Amino acid sequence: MRRIKAKEIENKVCEAALKANFELRKDVLRSLGIARNKETVPIAGKMLDILIENAKIAKKEKLAICQDTGMVVVFCRIGSKAQIIGDINEAINNGIKTAYKRGFLRKSVVRDPLKRTNANTNTPCVIHYDIISGNKIKIAVMPKGFGSENSGAVKLFNPTATEAQIKEFIISKVKEAGSSACPPVVLGIGIGGTLDKAASLAKEALLRQIGSRNPKKHIALLEKEILYALNKTGIGPMGLGGKTTCLAVNILEYPTHIAGLPVCVNISCHALRSAEVII
Ligand code: SF4
Repeated sequence: MRRIKAKEIENKVCEAALKANFELRKDVLRSLGIARNKETVPIAGKMLDILIENAKIAKKEKLAICQDTGMVVVFCRIGSKAQIIGDINEAINNGIKTAYKRGFLRKSVVRDPLKRTNANTNTPCVIHYDIISGNKIKIAVMPKGFGSENSGAVKLFNPTATEAQIKEFIISKVKEAGSSACPPVVLGIGIGGTLDKAASLAKEALLRQIGSRNPKKHIALLEKEILYALNKTGIGPMGLGGKTTCLAVNILEYPTHIAGLPVCVNISCHALRSAEVII
């Protein structure tokens, strides 16, 4: 067994949270640039220029890419041969607390969803744990803005639902969101499992690199078709019109029950932020 101190996890999570908030993911920035080169509508082109410039300034000046620094979602994959010395939950939350204080990042988490008093620490975060092989811990930190989070949806389809109906559901959610999701968006989609599994797959799908495709041909085709359809809606960057409404559609699927077909769409705005560390 390899022994890993909780304090080391805390420090690495803090670093990752700061990086995620200050540096737009390289694949996201690259895709904004590609979209900019293809965009022919002047206002859309100008908006994409602003988004790219904003990301560059944030990195250089160590400022938040967006004022909504999100509720933090953490995917923590623990090697079965790693032994954690201390409390990993506490370590991850402490890392986030320190990052948000040190980086002067907005604290957006309320202690109770109904009473709504700000926790002033941006914690607790939402942590997904998984066990993997090996002796390392892999942690992905994703600050998730709620303009786009609020636009997501899950639907428990009848198993006889067609791919056309699934596509229509997903596209309708992006259309309903309009400018509220701060497009161009990235879609994380979970298909299969149970209601909760589809939702966690949808979130995890946002970690997948833009430009990559699901290894299954029929799912990859669905990704392409949804992306194409969304970029024909004319919503455009920040909802001002144009050809660039969606940068990527990432689908993760899972086996499901004979009687069901859960589908969840998790929308990310153009400020799709995440950073990964391996300990
Ligand atoms: S949806 Fe994204 S870009 Fe819009 S305010 Fe929230 S974090 Fe910022």
